[in-house]
Amino acid sequence: YQGLAGRSTNEILQLYAARGQQMKLQRSSVVTQLYGAIKKRLKQDLKSLHSFALELSKDFQRQSKACIYQVLAAVQGIQLQNEAMQMFQIKAFDLEQSLQEVTERYEKEKQKRKALHNSLIELRGNIRVHCRIRPLLPFDDAAGHSVSQDRRRNFSEKAAYAADDETVLVKCSRPGHASVNKTFQFERVYHDLESQDAVFADVAPLLTSLLDGYNVCIMAYGQTGSGKTYTMLGPQLEGNLAFSTEEESELGIIPRATHEVFRLISEKPPGSYWVEVSVVEVYNNEIFDLLAKDSYGKVFGVKRDVVTTREGKSDVPLLTHETVENASEFLHLVNKGLQLRVTHPTLVHAHSSRSHLVVTLTITTVVFGDNFGTLWEDEQTSQRLNKEASCTFPQKMRDNKSTSSSRASSPVQLEATEKMKQVKTRLQLVDLAGSECVGMSGVTGAALRETSFINRSLSALADVLGAIAEQRAHVPYRNSKLTHLLQDSVGGDAKLLVMLCISPGQKYLTESMQSLGFGTRARQVQRGQVKKKNFPVPSKGK
Ligand code: ADP
Ligand code: MG
Repeated sequence: YQGLAGRSTNEILQLYAARGQQMKLQRSSVVTQLYGAIKKRLKQDLKSLHSFALELSKDFQRQSKACIYQVLAAVQGIQLQNEAMQMFQIKAFDLEQSLQEVTERYEKEKQKRKALHNSLIELRGNIRVHCRIRPLLPFDDAAGHSVSQDRRRNFSEKAAYAADDETVLVKCSRPGHASVNKTFQFERVYHDLESQDAVFADVAPLLTSLLDGYNVCIMAYGQTGSGKTYTMLGPQLEGNLAFSTEEESELGIIPRATHEVFRLISEKPPGSYWVEVSVVEVYNNEIFDLLAKDSYGKVFGVKRDVVTTREGKSDVPLLTHETVENASEFLHLVNKGLQLRVTHPTLVHAHSSRSHLVVTLTITTVVFGDNFGTLWEDEQTSQRLNKEASCTFPQKMRDNKSTSSSRASSPVQLEATEKMKQVKTRLQLVDLAGSECVGMSGVTGAALRETSFINRSLSALADVLGAIAEQRAHVPYRNSKLTHLLQDSVGGDAKLLVMLCISPGQKYLTESMQSLGFGTRARQVQRGQVKKKNFPVPSKGK
């Protein structure tokens, strides 16, 4: 302002204008500079943003590529796995097929082996032995005697198993000793869940043999409570010795065999067969005829004797043979006989049978014509029949519905209009009494006497088998009524099947081992080839 002193207003105004002009110029240059700087900065930022975006997109591409590779690899992996799986499935299918083929071949070979084994049995006259292991049952747990809780627990454990359908495995464990496994081989072993059907399926071929002219005997052996009566007859009703015929699937061998025999007979020409039944009990070494009737027609057991005939066969004179026409008549008579069976409740089992039961089904076949073979069971009877027969049989026989006493004095009246012979084949079904250790069943007095008779008769049976096995000249059949009665079946020409019954519990180990030993010895017996009765028309032997 000092410089303005003395100046004119115009000059001052000009000076101000110039100054404004200058400042304006200065301001615009600053703005330009600022603009330039901002522009530059913006350019830089944009550039870096661009390169960042570029980088980002590249990165994205890279990563997505990697992902695609991974996905592709995974898809390929899955495809490979799928292929491998398919291959695996094909292989598994092939393996399954070849396993099936091998199993089928194995089954065929097994059947062949069994057939060969059967023929061998037939040729050597071996005794077939089947073994049935019953399930553990509630009464296996029952305390019969004072043992510690520990031992009792051990008692109800299983000791006998079916390892396969031909092998029994027994685990023998004694306190303080390592357990030892023992195996026993038989023609057939039934595990604890096998049904009565399965058991009978193996018995049925023997019945075909019966109709083909062989004698057959099926005998249940085992300690009391091991399932002999269950196997032979079926479950018994509470407090009733008769077996129940209600539950068909539960029926045992005797009722099933009877039905099968009558079914087989129904397929034969009518009138050529007739069937008789006898029911015998061996109790305390005495033979009782359970179908003998008193004068009022009431059934009561009569003591009989067993003799050896001139042909060397065993026979029970005066034994009642009832003629029956169908299975229900047969079973009705068996049931009647069973009502008389002597029993005594031991501690082992409340319905223990203390006697041997022998149910015999005799089939008489009448054959006509000249074309007979020569080896008749009873040649003399045949000749007699040929000479004097007056032949209205079997009609006459059926009309009379008679009961024959002793087969030697058969009531058949036969008229000979043509040559005629009769052939008898016999099916013996035996439910043996159990042999148990006296200490275990806790019996005394009369029951002890019974037990000792039972044990003696069973040892006599073992002795007889031993004598046959050793081919001794003398076989001690007459040491016991049981062996004398069963002489023809045990030592003679019958196909014999022993059905060993085993209680699986550890508690019964000693008895089970005894039974398995008996079965093993029985298998070794060779009796020579089983004979077939000659029929005029040869039929296939089973
Ligand atoms: P045993 O005649 O040998 O003295 P039982 O046949 O009377 O023996 O059998 C004893 C008990 O065991 C019976 O109650 C019977 O029903 C039962 N039993 C036996 N075997 C079997 C089995 N396989 N399945 C089911 N119960 C059985
Ligand atoms: Mg019994």
